[in-house]
Amino acid sequence: MIKIMTDLPTSPQPRPGPLRIAPYVGGKATVGGVNRVVKLSSNENPYGASPAAIAAFRDVGDRLALYPDGGAVALRDAIAKAEGLDPARIVCGAGSDEILSMLCLAYAGPGDEVMHSAHGFLMYRLSALAVGADPVSIPERNLTADIDAMIAAAGEKTKIVFLANPNNPTGTMLPDADIRRLREGLPAHTLLVIDAAYAEYVDDPEYDAGARLVGERDDTIMTRTFSKIHGLAALRLGWGYGPAAVIDAVNRVRGPFNVSAPALAAGVEAIADNAFIARSRDGNKSERARVASALERMGLTITPSQGNFILAHVGEDDARSAAGVDEFLQKRGILIRRMEGYGLPGYLRISIGTPEENGLLIAAMEDFMR
Ligand SMILES: *Cc1c(COP(=O)(O)O)cnc(C)c1O
Repeated sequence: MIKIMTDLPTSPQPRPGPLRIAPYVGGKATVGGVNRVVKLSSNENPYGASPAAIAAFRDVGDRLALYPDGGAVALRDAIAKAEGLDPARIVCGAGSDEILSMLCLAYAGPGDEVMHSAHGFLMYRLSALAVGADPVSIPERNLTADIDAMIAAAGEKTKIVFLANPNNPTGTMLPDADIRRLREGLPAHTLLVIDAAYAEYVDDPEYDAGARLVGERDDTIMTRTFSKIHGLAALRLGWGYGPAAVIDAVNRVRGPFNVSAPALAAGVEAIADNAFIARSRDGNKSERARVASALERMGLTITPSQGNFILAHVGEDDARSAAGVDEFLQKRGILIRRMEGYGLPGYLRISIGTPEENGLLIAAMEDFMR
């Protein structure tokens, strides 16, 4: 007998939250008809990765039949040693993106709100929608998160506040004092997530990545990544440092083998390779200044950046638009990131490359401006 259930859908239906997600569009990696591509679209490390990390990655090739250590003990110990933290309060993820998703899974759901600043990292909105929570976008001031507006908007429903510091794509940073003021002003039931993906690049003395604040409280977590200064974006590796109860909640929703063995092995070496880290930081600092001043001399407005990228305001004239610059550069094989998806039409985000790559970018921009 066929049972007729008229009010049920005729095919499997996803929950409404995921259907509100416009899929994440990453930076372009190829251009038709161009042999050599200069990829300045995804904030990757132009100097590659630590040679010791690459060697450790290769060594795992002989042991691919074995599951990784689900507790990531060696990596958590290596991170704890490098950063002076308690390994019991560290959790590792397949990229820090996975940590952000797991926090949403553990702390937010339908009817809850997840707050972020208007030009904050796009993953915050996507991770919130995926669990059925409502993302709440708070307007910024001068392309910087507005602490007072965030405090004023936080309420009963606010389960998580995501703040990237420095922020991608704006490159702007908040001093430690402002982060502390934000924390003091948020409700006690709200989890503050400080996403410090670019911490290692910051040279402002007022900055703190967040570990000190996390250590003093039970309501704040800091996330970090191996994708930027450590140059391991391909491996997908990130970590969080938080209060015991928050780490415990993340571990409950975490897949038992969420981080692969090659990622674990490479991460142990990368976090300890201070020479590679210093070279990446120093190269970025001098080249960021060079690219920014070259573009400023051409008449573009550059937002002061603490990351490994800059945000350039090109404008939207017919003669000089962000779309026009993007197309022109693509023909030269230079890839940068358009910013419409971040609510910043007229802007372009340009990752800082090697000195040679930046030279090609500057020369192409000079040609465009003529
Ligand atoms: C690049 C980036 C991350 C890191 O993502 P992974 O998943 O670790 O590669 C996190 N937050 C921000 C703001 C970023 O720009």
